[in-house]
Amino acid sequence: MAARFTFEKGVGAWLSGASDALVSVFFPAGCRLCERVLVHASTVPICEECLGSFAAVGGAVCERCGQPLAAWSLGGARDERATENLVCPECQTREYGFDRARSYALYKAGLVRAIVLLKFERVEPLGRWFAGRLAEVARREALAADAVVPVPLHRQRERERGYNQADLIAKPLARKLGLPYRAVLLVRTKPRPDKHILTLEERWDSVRGAFATRPGIKVDNLRVLLVDDVMTTGATLDACARALRGAGAKSVIGLTVARAARHPS
Ligand SMILES: [Zn+2]
Ligand SMILES: [Zn+2]
Repeated sequence: MAARFTFEKGVGAWLSGASDALVSVFFPAGCRLCERVLVHASTVPICEECLGSFAAVGGAVCERCGQPLAAWSLGGARDERATENLVCPECQTREYGFDRARSYALYKAGLVRAIVLLKFERVEPLGRWFAGRLAEVARREALAADAVVPVPLHRQRERERGYNQADLIAKPLARKLGLPYRAVLLVRTKPRPDKHILTLEERWDSVRGAFATRPGIKVDNLRVLLVDDVMTTGATLDACARALRGAGAKSVIGLTVARAARHPS
């Protein structure tokens, strides 16, 4: 009996240790972006080439919103003063609720499809991979925080989907940074409109006052790292940050996997 028990335990350990390899031996699958056969022993269903193709945000960025400044200098309407101060023209006229926002890569090509996988197919290993990239950004930019908070979904939307995609990134990120994970802090009180595509104006309208801190939860003097999958206009991060600041948070830094490029028009 004892010998058999040990044998099974051994097999169990071997199975769990070799699960990645087993997956690729028994279920050879292609990369979810380019269909190349996956040869590396990883649970991320995207090949190394595709992961390496994501356009990491680099060069000079706006100190406030993190938008690459190159978009403005190439546009012809270059503002020398803005480039010196490293604040984009948009942030010179708009006051965001967050102190700063930063992203891992530009929202285009393969990254758009990778985000879809995360968002609609709950590919958790991909969430962990993105968390690794965001941890690198947080360390490189010395983003100071006391807690990691995901942008919440409205409870009805979360019930339909079964999970919040921002959780899949923010939770492993908190672990990698050694910070408390505080998903209970924020709630979305107003649902997103059903309409699939929103204009810029509608985006701002749809999130205005849509978030609140949960009653009874202490936010005083907290420095929050607010995490989402994509930053488009910044309206969502802005609305969440306003709710947190209103409840006494000391600072809010937005951190997203992807950044939709804006143009100076
Ligand atoms: Zn690929
Ligand atoms: Zn800016």
